[in-house]
Amino acid sequence: MGEQTLTDTFGRRIDYLRLSVTDRCDLRCSYCLPKGFKGFEEPAHWLTFDEITRVVRAFTALGLHRVRLTGGEPLMRRDLPALAAQLSALPGIEDLSLSSNCTQMESLAEPLRRAGVRRLNVSLDSLRPDIFQQLTGGDLARVLRGIEAAHSAGFAPIRVNTVVLRDQNEHEIEDILDFCAARGFTLRLIEAMPMGSTGQAAMQRSLDLQTVKRRLERRFDLIPDILPGGGPARYYRLRGSETRIGLITPMSQHFCETCNRVRLTVDGTLLLCLGQEHSYPLRPLLRAGVTDVELVAHLRLAIALKPERHAFNDQPTRIVRFMSLTGG
Ligand code: SAM
Repeated sequence: MGEQTLTDTFGRRIDYLRLSVTDRCDLRCSYCLPKGFKGFEEPAHWLTFDEITRVVRAFTALGLHRVRLTGGEPLMRRDLPALAAQLSALPGIEDLSLSSNCTQMESLAEPLRRAGVRRLNVSLDSLRPDIFQQLTGGDLARVLRGIEAAHSAGFAPIRVNTVVLRDQNEHEIEDILDFCAARGFTLRLIEAMPMGSTGQAAMQRSLDLQTVKRRLERRFDLIPDILPGGGPARYYRLRGSETRIGLITPMSQHFCETCNRVRLTVDGTLLLCLGQEHSYPLRPLLRAGVTDVELVAHLRLAIALKPERHAFNDQPTRIVRFMSLTGG
């Protein structure tokens, strides 16, 4: 029998899981998690490392090969390298990656690399300490040290994610691009999405990246490019260099038709779409003794619920979940 695959009702093959290991974060990005937020999941509801590994193993039986550790801030989950080692040892997992804000990367870069994490996405919205502090509540110098530690530890590729906001960091794009080019990183610009009250408020400062692209074209010759495992970004290479820039445009040009992913929240809920509420709770099943065969069958039922596309444009106030609680 050939390998089993997971295909949704729209013919999309699902082979990528974004795994939120915590809903906590040590930053408070203005468009993500509100200051003073208290509604975090209680620890008794967090999936244990063994529960997470069971779910991922069941997914691999259905042809899933790629897992990204995310959050919240995944480095806040205690013993994350131990979980990474458990997951990277699973037969079928070919690609274990991480999204992080890098505040704690100085101490965790080496252990995470040793545990089999290869690729890294870093959030970096500004290179100016005051703007960074204003946008995220964090210490830029510490984040930059974390990024250098990740680079030295051999994470590759490293992609820098920047949410572009009018009048806040829109004029820094070229500086962040230079920062990336000097280190061999790829910059990805992201349009803010109306997730939760914070994301919805950010829509007033959101920039259509088609406009930003036209601005960049005045300075660079952008050649369309394809990056393996590049995800939803549309990539361009800057002529005369190896530097790439990706544009992630959920609002101005959605990419739902090629969506290949689902998300698992820290409390064991499968979210079938970032911009819809379709979900499937796995924790009650795991804690009621579901068998492996049954678990695989439940994953198929869950995938059948995956909607065709997000509703960010049609119903911009619909999603009350913050990105941090979703597993970005
Ligand atoms: N803490 C990790 C990090 O910083 O990459 C992983 C989780 S974070 C929620 C993942 C990404 O979601 C970050 O790049 C962040 O900028 C982005 N994000 C959060 N809220 C968003 C929103 N409303 N619209 C667009 N991107 C958002």
